[in-house]
Amino acid sequence: MVSGRQPHRLTVLAGPTAVGKGAVSTYLRDHHPEIWISVSATTRAARPGEVDGVHYWFVDDDRFDQLAESGDLLEWAVVHGGARYGTPRRPLEQALADGRAALLEIDLQGARQVRQAMPNAFFVFLKPPSWEELVRRLVGRGTESDAQRARRLQTAAAELAAEPEFDVSVVNTEVPVAAEELVRLIRQG
Ligand code: 5GP
Repeated sequence: MVSGRQPHRLTVLAGPTAVGKGAVSTYLRDHHPEIWISVSATTRAARPGEVDGVHYWFVDDDRFDQLAESGDLLEWAVVHGGARYGTPRRPLEQALADGRAALLEIDLQGARQVRQAMPNAFFVFLKPPSWEELVRRLVGRGTESDAQRARRLQTAAAELAAEPEFDVSVVNTEVPVAAEELVRLIRQG
C-alpha cells in the first residue's frame, strides 16, 4: 500500500530522566547511521567512556554563555538543577539541508522550545514500562549522589505527566525494540 507520507525529517526524542534515551541514541548511532543524531553542548563533566564531540561537546560555563548569547543554540536548558545542555543550531540545519533524517535527544524543557521554533517536528515520548521500573533504572545507574537522585526522581515524576504533549509514545522495555520502533515511526512519516 502506498501511504503517500514522507519520512519525518526532524524527530525530537524526550522522556523522563533515566528512561533510557541515551541508550536508545547509542543503539541508533551503532545500528542506524543513516539517522543523523545531534551532539549537544553541555557544561557537565564527561563520564568515563564519554568522548568529546561524540556523546557531547563538553564546554565550560563561559563557552556555553557565548553559544547561548550568540544564538548558536536552537534550545538550551538547565537539567536537574545542575548543568546546562543545548542543541547546536548549525549542524542540525546542515543535516536537514542535506536531506538527512535528524534526531534530537533532549529533555522536556528543550522539547518545548523546539516545538515553538520548529512546530512541524515529530515529537516522540520515550516512557518506562512502569514507575517502579523507572526508579530501578535511576538507582541502578549509580552515578549520582542521594540528593541528585532525589532531585532526578522529582523531575521524572513531573516529566511523566507531559506525555500528552507528544505526537506518539514509545515504551522502552528493551532498548533495541524501542529503538527499532522509533526508526519505524520516523520512516513511516
Ligand atoms: P545526561 O547528563 O544523563 O547525559 O543527560 C541528562 C539529560 O539532559 C537527559 O534528559 C538528556 O535528554 C538531556 N539533554 C541532553 N542534551 C540536551 C540538549 O541539548 N538540550 C536539552 N534541553 N536537554 C538535553
